[in-house]
Amino acid sequence: MFKTARIRLTLWYLLIIMMVSVIFSFTIYNIQGREVERFARQRLIRTQLELYHGNPPPFFSSDTMLPRLEQDLIRDAEAHILLSLFVANCVILVFSGVLAYLLAGKTLRPIQNMVYEQHRFISDASHELRTPLTALKTSLEVSLRDRDLNLSGAKKTISESVQDVNRLQALSENLLQLTQYQSTNGRNDHRPVSLTQAVSEAIHKIEPLAKKKNITIHYHKTPVMVNGNSYGLVDLAVILLDNAVKYSHSGSSLQVSVQRKDRLAVLSVADRGMGIAAKDLPRIFDRFYRADTARTKTARGGYGLGLSIAKKIAEVHRGKISVESEPGTGSVFTVTFPAAN
Ligand code: ADP
Repeated sequence: MFKTARIRLTLWYLLIIMMVSVIFSFTIYNIQGREVERFARQRLIRTQLELYHGNPPPFFSSDTMLPRLEQDLIRDAEAHILLSLFVANCVILVFSGVLAYLLAGKTLRPIQNMVYEQHRFISDASHELRTPLTALKTSLEVSLRDRDLNLSGAKKTISESVQDVNRLQALSENLLQLTQYQSTNGRNDHRPVSLTQAVSEAIHKIEPLAKKKNITIHYHKTPVMVNGNSYGLVDLAVILLDNAVKYSHSGSSLQVSVQRKDRLAVLSVADRGMGIAAKDLPRIFDRFYRADTARTKTARGGYGLGLSIAKKIAEVHRGKISVESEPGTGSVFTVTFPAAN
């Protein structure tokens, strides 16, 4: 598909270049032709003047037909100009053909990457959706075929199905969130907002989950503003805090801080949880990447989308997200933004 598009675009570029070149050549040809004729006439007048000792020649004026010799010379010169222009246009055609092909490739590359990325996203998403849907369908079909199914058995199946549906709902919400941040690039509604306040709101949202695991959240804050969207910043902090709670042992604590360092606003979320293996660190921000499926499944099962959403939100806010972690010791996620105050 992109090969054909590239060739078409090359031809369009080439057509434009050649049109300009031909118009230019045509103009040059006309001007040069007239110049050659003018030069021939002047030369003839000068010769005549010399011949008649400075008196105007009796039979020659500026619009008299040129003698045959001069006419032949002009025709020769015009033919020469025409040939030169033809050769120049051939060289331009070859040269600009190569250039147009390279340029077309360069123009199409971002679109090509975007389309590949979309295809990958769709296939990843449908793969992730298919597994829980198949499980749900199988469990419902088995229950339906079970003649001895009693009320408590049916309730158990329904409650398992509701859990699956909840997971599917969470997945579709995450997918929507990701596409939303990917498609809008979301900078239209950016204005100075308090990062400190956004993180407070996120902590407020996560506190019930943390309480369930008896995890304490310590928040060290200084007032820092960033240019952005407060909902996006709250979402970002919620993702980091949710992970910190999810992958921490019961009874542990989290250290959250918002500070200003030079011209940067820095958000940091540190936990003393299970940590991340060095081999997984470079990939945890990839879509659908789960460091350890078995372990992750037990820890309130994620789909590996949270950190890719967080990364996208950080990028939309011209920020950077990074992580330092050691298995068994804990992880520190840091997001830096350009400060707005
Ligand atoms: P998930 O929904 O699976 O948590 P994320 O994209 O949020 O997806 O995280 C990707 C992976 O990174 C997780 O599966 C987990 O293995 C790892 N991870 C993220 N945050 C932490 C953390 N605070 N501690 C340990 N591992 C983490």
